[in-house]
Amino acid sequence: MTVEYRINPSQKINLKKFDPEDTSWWQKDNSSAKKELNKLREKLINLQQLLYSENKHKVLIVLQAMDSGGKDGTIRSIFKGVNPQGVSVASFKVPTPVELGHDYLWRVHAKTPQTGEIVIFNRSHYEDVLVVRVHNLVPKKVWEKRYDHIAQFEKLLADEGTTILKFFLNISKDEQKKRFLERIEIPEKQWKFNPNDIEERKLWSVYMQAYEEAISKTSTSKAPWFVIPANQNWYRDLVIAKIITDCLENLKMNYPKSVENIESYKELLVKD
Ligand code: AMP
Ligand code: MG
Repeated sequence: MTVEYRINPSQKINLKKFDPEDTSWWQKDNSSAKKELNKLREKLINLQQLLYSENKHKVLIVLQAMDSGGKDGTIRSIFKGVNPQGVSVASFKVPTPVELGHDYLWRVHAKTPQTGEIVIFNRSHYEDVLVVRVHNLVPKKVWEKRYDHIAQFEKLLADEGTTILKFFLNISKDEQKKRFLERIEIPEKQWKFNPNDIEERKLWSVYMQAYEEAISKTSTSKAPWFVIPANQNWYRDLVIAKIITDCLENLKMNYPKSVENIESYKELLVKD
């Protein structure tokens, strides 16, 4: 079974047509979904070990979403149990003065994976055509050129051996309201509440337009976007885990060859 949330190159998207509640890929009940996710996690643990030991491929996973969209939860859930050696998360916040003193890809390029590594971007260079565009942090004539830079930058990474998967976690505005209310009402979640998120929420439709354009202009065969229905956490995790494991399996990785005559060393040890 393959999951089809991939956006084709140059496909124009209208996010209103993507249902955040969709769970159509999983027809069975919820408890079997949990079992399936556990199986996929096991697979991912093994594939990551293979990736690390083969030391040939680089993997970049980009997560973008509106506030409370589930980026942190996705990382926690999918990478549970994966060897932390060889996997890292890079979170991109409001740029520092030094970062702002460089071009916007400078801080991003520095965090891209090396061989054998998986890097997860929690937000990314896409903020430079999302929040930056929505708030006019730079003039239009500056940000409108960035889609092209981004596509070229990702092409460079892909040409040099990086496998790239980009996920937009698509929640509804109502779901965001529910999640913000939880952040206010549940003591353990209050630390996540940021009053500014309420201001950003007012710009929901402007953000959706910015996402539509960013996704449409930068989904390529080597760096595809996936629009993931994300109102239901279990479904979001299941679908993303499936896409990642399928992609890693397609790399057809192998453990490196052992040293010649490995058995002969056994004799040496046994005699020791
Ligand atoms: P959070 O992910 O909730 O910790 O928030 C990080 C904040 O940093 C978000 O409001 C992002 O929009 C903001 N941010 C990330 N990258 C940029 C950027 N390049 N320019 C401006 N703001 C950014
Ligand atoms: Mg936030």
